[in-house]
Amino acid sequence: MAGSGIIDAHVHLYPSEVSADPARWAAHRHEPLWGALVTPQPGRRVQQGWADADRLLRDMDAAGVERAVLLGWYWQRHETCVWHNRIYAECVRAHPDRFSAFATVQAAAGADVAIREMNRARDDGLVGLGELCPWSGGGSALDEDWQAVLAHAVALGWPVNLHVTDPASRLFPGRVVTPLEDVVTLARQQPGLRLILAHWGGGLVFHELNAHARQALQNCVYDTAATPLLYDPAIYAAAVRAVGAERILFGSDYPLMVFPREQSEPDLTRVLAQVRAASLDDAARAAVLGGSARRTMGIV
Ligand SMILES: [Zn+2]
Repeated sequence: MAGSGIIDAHVHLYPSEVSADPARWAAHRHEPLWGALVTPQPGRRVQQGWADADRLLRDMDAAGVERAVLLGWYWQRHETCVWHNRIYAECVRAHPDRFSAFATVQAAAGADVAIREMNRARDDGLVGLGELCPWSGGGSALDEDWQAVLAHAVALGWPVNLHVTDPASRLFPGRVVTPLEDVVTLARQQPGLRLILAHWGGGLVFHELNAHARQALQNCVYDTAATPLLYDPAIYAAAVRAVGAERILFGSDYPLMVFPREQSEPDLTRVLAQVRAASLDDAARAAVLGGSARRTMGIV
């Protein structure tokens, strides 16, 4: 029988070697884009929180989350991707009942190199690809190397989580422009690709009211990552009306502090309270909180 607990489909973990001094770690690893994103901005509340696997497990228990899907990051360097994938493989080996994990790769290292790493990650127990952002650093998901990587995800049967930003949202250091048109083109060109479009696909979820977009995006689903930072809570009910709850996956973006006014450390209870308070019927809420992720990722 399939499980029915809550699944958080969008979590990032960093070991203590990173959180001890993120800016220094980023410089040492030659990851300036990530470094810019996690560095506190003058005059703004700190949003980046930090958690290792033990801390995450405690926060999952406190919030009643059964399973977390660990997502990699869109690192600039292949070596950093490999490092993160190995850490996630260890997490999954240690807690197969609580964690699933996606691999991350950088196609700029060459599609052959990235594909070899995907195969190795698959052998290590990882079950998807992401969070990717091919546009970060000036590339595009439509580049030849990324197309080959994404075609290999289809061959492996892997879902792919894609970071998508809303073109109407606030500009901040490290924000990447992810043209929604590219996402639609990608989905159209690779109809076998199971895309999980993060952050409500940067608003693409509402473009599905356009029949052309709806047809192209029929194999895509959306996650709710970072909703409290980005949208009014009315988005839950509005998006369920637009595409159906079976195509929406709860994701927190933990350990990001998505309620920066109320939070001084990572936590999953507040964001879950927001989903529970949304005006959804019980079946829709159950789908968003776990059923849709189970179907998308084949979790039982
Ligand atoms: Zn993201």
